[in-house]
Amino acid sequence: MNIDKLIKDAENNLKDQFSKIDELCMINSQKVLKAFQKYKISESHFSSTTGYGYDDIGRDTIEKVFADVLGGEDALVRSQFISGSHALTVALFAYLRPGDTMLSITGTPYDTLHEVIGIIENSSSLKSFGVSYEQIELVNDDFDYDKIQDRLKKSKIKLIEIQRSKGYSTRKSITIDKIDKVIKKIREIDKDVIIMVDNCYCEFVEEKSPLEVDADIIVGSLIKNLGGGIAPNGAYIVGKKELVDLAGERLTLPGEGRKVGPTLGINKSILQGLFMAPSVVSSSLKTAVLASKLLEDLGYKVEPRYSDKRADIVQNIEFGTAENLIKFCEGIQKSSPVDSFVNPIPSDMPGYADKVIMAAGTFTQGSSIELSCDGPIRKPYIAYLQGGLTYEYGKIAIINAIMYLTK
Ligand SMILES: *Cc1c(COP(=O)(O)O)cnc(C)c1O
Repeated sequence: MNIDKLIKDAENNLKDQFSKIDELCMINSQKVLKAFQKYKISESHFSSTTGYGYDDIGRDTIEKVFADVLGGEDALVRSQFISGSHALTVALFAYLRPGDTMLSITGTPYDTLHEVIGIIENSSSLKSFGVSYEQIELVNDDFDYDKIQDRLKKSKIKLIEIQRSKGYSTRKSITIDKIDKVIKKIREIDKDVIIMVDNCYCEFVEEKSPLEVDADIIVGSLIKNLGGGIAPNGAYIVGKKELVDLAGERLTLPGEGRKVGPTLGINKSILQGLFMAPSVVSSSLKTAVLASKLLEDLGYKVEPRYSDKRADIVQNIEFGTAENLIKFCEGIQKSSPVDSFVNPIPSDMPGYADKVIMAAGTFTQGSSIELSCDGPIRKPYIAYLQGGLTYEYGKIAIINAIMYLTK
């Protein structure tokens, strides 16, 4: 196999895709820069608080900037969120009360939420507090609009969850157009139901955020897209002010809510991460598109295809055998800047049912805006590849992983 020729041909074929990604990066960069200027970001915002974290001007301004960039009224952007899953959990516990019903309209939610909701028994789940859960499956990767409307007519739903990215599934990720359409259908029946979007992996992949098509609240992680590879941890909840306030009361304590939360020196990294995010997401998208093209050329089934419209940064590659999946992940790990010498081994992970292999030689533990590749060891052995701080490093890793796979 002549890998150099394969890459050259692929990149020639990808010119249109890459120039669209460049345009998107320009639009999102303008959005971010304008928000920094609007809120007069200055060195004073890089300062830090300790202890209770009262009057942290950097933190409070960061939240205004995030709200502005994502098109929301307000934002909670905190390093006290351990992860995206934690922020989703805080939001769910903030909005749902005993007797309420939550409805997922994108089928089974992300693995880590199963114990949170009570799909898998846990004595601290929403279910254990008397919150009911229902779900409606997607049909042909789109919402089941009629079934959703019928369910909403039947009895009161308190909160609807929409998960945009595919998680460990084979479905397509959900575009803003589809979210726009389903929200209009929902609002025909119920004007008040809280529409919460799990926005993980989707930020800056399209021009609009779900809040700009009438979602109430969106949630995501800072060790994915919006952290730009620089934020060392944290997550965000952005949207309607009253919902952001409720999440604050749940994250800390009723009565103190958003007014507390020390930043311990993290403010500059969060701002710098957001500043870099449009470009980093663009590098991740180019890396994913290149991988999609090359692995399709080699005969593997990929989703999305290189020419498809993308809603997130995740690239599925179906390897068919555990051996090939593991080999590809090993190749990615060997091409990493950190821990290039270690071998990823499929293992049990808290919150996940199957053994999972994770290749991630990242600066920040578990960061998946840095190039990473993972997948549960179950049929049809799909690798979920995402991230890439620069296209060049992404490209080097993809080439190495392919050579390792085909050796
Ligand atoms: C990554 C992700 C989450 C949150 O994951 P954490 O690892 O807890 O940050 C939630 N939903 C989806 C769809 C995701 O991709």
